[in-house]
Amino acid sequence: MAVRGHDEVWPRPGSCRVIGVANQKGGVGKTTTTVNIAAALAMHGQRVLVVDLDPQGNASTALGMERDNQTRSIYHCLVEDEEIRKLAQPVPGIPDLWCAPATIDLAGAEIELVSLVAREARLKRAFAAYDTSELDYILIDCPPSLGLLTVNAMVACDEVMIPIQCEYYALEGLGQLLRNVELVQSHLNPGLAVSTILLTMYDGRTRLSQQVAEEVRSHFGDTVLETLIPRSVRVSEAPSYGQSVMTYDPGSTGAVAYLEAAREIAHRAQGVRT
Ligand code: ADP
Ligand code: MG
Repeated sequence: MAVRGHDEVWPRPGSCRVIGVANQKGGVGKTTTTVNIAAALAMHGQRVLVVDLDPQGNASTALGMERDNQTRSIYHCLVEDEEIRKLAQPVPGIPDLWCAPATIDLAGAEIELVSLVAREARLKRAFAAYDTSELDYILIDCPPSLGLLTVNAMVACDEVMIPIQCEYYALEGLGQLLRNVELVQSHLNPGLAVSTILLTMYDGRTRLSQQVAEEVRSHFGDTVLETLIPRSVRVSEAPSYGQSVMTYDPGSTGAVAYLEAAREIAHRAQGVRT
């Protein structure tokens, strides 16, 4: 399959868009979406930072981050006020893409954060101390829970992107997620909005996938990207090579779909920001 528009440069947003990729369900494609949308944006002229906020560190692994027990991670940023600039690392093979990695210390952060001042706004503070005029996008990969780490993401971002897996029970828990977004909106971050819903792991051969896609579109209308991400073996193989599918197999159906989804996101930016 031909790879379309690889040297095309997409319009840059007027100021850095901070997007939290959230869904408290595990295995719905949050990390895969974060990594591949980030890579696709960076490959089209955008300067992108991925923040790995999941203690499991899957996004860091997928982006080829080297980590050992000396590695400074987003944990040190949240708990010890370390500057993001000092811990972000360039992603090998993709210019203009950086990652602030997660290490296993982050597993304790949910508890350690409880006793800190402004515990919900630690990440926002870290972004405020960073010169985000050097970036076009920050994508935050959230853990599969609605705890303090996800709340930190929602306080620090302008937009929430929700990946929804085209499977049975896909919509279960979505109400709770949306209520959490509303709570953060009314108490901590009035500018927060669910800007984007992305349907993932779509299998066009099954009625179920089609039904889920239709149901999500009828509920959420234009918030849902036109592009569906198909189930693709190449997408699931890429992380074990420390790569996004965008570099691992750019012509695969999964890579082409993520490229299209990223293009939609980049072009939607124009109306959103001034
Ligand atoms: P989450 O971060 O929400 O837990 P992941 O992005 O880690 O979800 O995805 C869960 C699993 O599904 C991973 O093994 C991933 O490789 C696989 N996966 C995600 N998207 C696809 C896809 N489009 N096709 C095939 N496998 C996928
Ligand atoms: Mg994940």
